[in-house]
Amino acid sequence: MKTKLPFKPNIYAVRISNSYFVRIQLENNNYIHHHSFDLLTDAVDLADKILEVGEIDVQYWKQENNENSIYYKFLICKEKRQTKAHIWNGLDTFCTMWGTGGLGNAKGYNLYNTNLGRDICMMCSKNSQKK
Ligand SMILES: [Zn+2]
Repeated sequence: MKTKLPFKPNIYAVRISNSYFVRIQLENNNYIHHHSFDLLTDAVDLADKILEVGEIDVQYWKQENNENSIYYKFLICKEKRQTKAHIWNGLDTFCTMWGTGGLGNAKGYNLYNTNLGRDICMMCSKNSQKK
């Protein structure tokens, strides 16, 4: 069964345990797409495709349990020690550097629930406080 998405749906690429999923919020419930990804980039690609199509097939989605609802907020490349922690807005960093390729190889980046002691990106910090 297909469901049309509202204008500007709340769709996010999220980390659950060590995998990435696409989450969508519809009428205050969160639904998780059944497909899991090792890479954040792949989850964002799926989210972009869903936004393009503008509808979802409900058989591929399940309602999210509360215990999964940890929101991993910081995008960090663990291997590069000198890099900053960026703040994740759901599909990109608030500084938009991830989406525009400004961070280099996106495959090295993962979402974490703390900043791992890194400095936080100034642009992310500024932009995330705007609304
Ligand atoms: Zn940033």
